[in-house]
Amino acid sequence: MNQPTARLPVNEAIRQDQFLTVLPRDEAVRRFREAFQPAPLGTETVILAAALGRVLAEDIASPTDVPPFDRSGVDGFAVRSADCGEAGDAHPVTLTLNPEVIACGVAPRLAVAPGTATPIATGGPIPRGADAVVMIEHTDAAEGDAAIALRRAPAPGAFVAFAGSDIARGETLLRRGTVVGSREIGMLAACGIAQIPVFRRPRVGVLSTGDELVAPGESLRPAAIYDANGPIVAAAVAENGGEAVSYGAFPDEEAALDAALRRAFAECDAVILSGGTSKGAGDLTHRLVGRLGAPGIVAHGVALKPGKPLCLAVCDGKPVVVLPGFPTSAMFTFHDVVAPVLRQMAGLPARNEAQVDALVPVRVPSELGRTEFVMAALVEREDGLVAYPSPKGSGSITAFTQADGFLTIDALADHLPAGTRTSVTLLNPQVRAPDLVIVGSHCTGLDAVVGRLAERGVSARLMAVGSLGGLAAARRGECDLAPIHLMDPATGTYNESYLAPGLELVPGWRRMQGIVYRLGDARFEGRTPDEAVAAAIADPACLMVNRNQGAGTRILIDRLLAGARPEGYWNQPKSHNAVGAAVAQGRADWGVAIAPVAGAYGLGFLPLGEEHYDFALVSERRGKPAVAALLESLRQPETAALLAALGFRAA
Ligand code: AMP
Ligand code: MG
Repeated sequence: MNQPTARLPVNEAIRQDQFLTVLPRDEAVRRFREAFQPAPLGTETVILAAALGRVLAEDIASPTDVPPFDRSGVDGFAVRSADCGEAGDAHPVTLTLNPEVIACGVAPRLAVAPGTATPIATGGPIPRGADAVVMIEHTDAAEGDAAIALRRAPAPGAFVAFAGSDIARGETLLRRGTVVGSREIGMLAACGIAQIPVFRRPRVGVLSTGDELVAPGESLRPAAIYDANGPIVAAAVAENGGEAVSYGAFPDEEAALDAALRRAFAECDAVILSGGTSKGAGDLTHRLVGRLGAPGIVAHGVALKPGKPLCLAVCDGKPVVVLPGFPTSAMFTFHDVVAPVLRQMAGLPARNEAQVDALVPVRVPSELGRTEFVMAALVEREDGLVAYPSPKGSGSITAFTQADGFLTIDALADHLPAGTRTSVTLLNPQVRAPDLVIVGSHCTGLDAVVGRLAERGVSARLMAVGSLGGLAAARRGECDLAPIHLMDPATGTYNESYLAPGLELVPGWRRMQGIVYRLGDARFEGRTPDEAVAAAIADPACLMVNRNQGAGTRILIDRLLAGARPEGYWNQPKSHNAVGAAVAQGRADWGVAIAPVAGAYGLGFLPLGEEHYDFALVSERRGKPAVAALLESLRQPETAALLAALGFRAA
């Protein structure tokens, strides 16, 4: 899709390629809200056991007093306080015991007459005549158990919980709109309420569209991907008070999709689709939605990033939304535009949008003409919070799912300068700063090491931004450690020469790198690496996959090639896994990756040499308990064994 050109006015609709009319976000939302005013859909009665998470449709008043009668708060003796005078250790007061014991659930038969006391249990009803209770600990048996000697004089009302002192009959217990949790259920049960009126949950039909989609749990055919949006949207509907009805994923096939859409539309109060909303040849969801009912599509194309292809419709009084296909765009637009409407239909209050102030350490480029939302992870630095923009785009799931919140870049700005202080809207109001922040290159060995720390209660946040990104973050003090594997081309040594002042090297582990190829390929099988590379270069049909500039592996590859530029040289992915996938799937015939990756993708492997995967530690963080725990763990034989099992060798 073309991107809007720069310097467009944001307050009027922008024509985008020959089709999409891109509206500013607020205008799109205004049109949606004008066509559909969300309100609760009616009420139903549920029993307490089914009430968790539901929204009260009416105020609830208590039909009874809690406690229903005056009762004792302790085990002891019900007395008349006026009888007890100046009782004390030196002058006990003796009272005759009445011939009954008031246990819990036993109604008293006898009154407490002057000069007498009645034994009473915690929760027992106070008998007529008594106005206070003396704790058993402050008494002694007297006259062979026929009487009791008090060593304390109780004040009137001592240890008596009066009727209605907890909840008074008629008191409003809970208000309409309250989300019922265990505490609310406790109050209702204490008042004897067995069922409550709640708002009916809006039924929301969820459909995914795309020829490439396969349901999770099934095996992935070539060129297919798993349907992530369906499960995400269904869960997000439930989180926002709706009842999701999942219809599954449908190919971009008019008749079948139209039938499914019409069925969902008939059975539900709202329908949410995803995918197929760009105006490309195969994109038909918006056409089907446009025919569903009046007024139909009210906005298609919103000046949001991520989320431009959002399509909002209202058909015969029901909202129908087509979310963009990319999961992060889908989630973001759902939360921004759809969730507030759904919450009103469910009778829920607006989600409270907590915001925090944070410093953005890097320059964030942005597109003119679209309000841009940048997913960010928060890390704590001595001088406050730092918002670390997700390096992954809206095509990634983790951009959203691993973010703590997002920052907003105005439509009129083409970038956010490094060092800007800005406000970050939290996706989850309970962000908890992790004990350990690790930013740099990712390794499955690191997952294992961090897993061992987690068992000891140390939480870590890993941000995979590559070795150089990690070093930059470490220099700025945004992480505790940066895992790196950088070879110095001048010396052939790893990592040490890349350290800046304030950083020190902590040895990690070694990763054997080698040539990966599909098993049985005679150009590689049984040869030395030099022979294999010579055979590969000699065969014009043999396609390589390279690595990105700056990767230690790239330096190794360039040394191997000694100036040659075989076919595939310009295919330069950024990870060992991408190399493994390309060779396994036949998009390339060979590349260089680490041994565990060769194993994971079932590839042949010709060892070349060990890569050093170490940690650049911010020296002043060495004393931090979580850092100390990691350093200690790296020295333990159990960790070395764990790494060895994964194909790594401890340094
Ligand atoms: P579309 O809007 O249909 O052109 O899709 C845009 C991108 O989102 C494509 O890369 C799709 O494969 C991807 N996509 C669409 N639907 C889903 C889905 N349900 N789960 C994951 N990715 C999706
Ligand atoms: Mg599609």
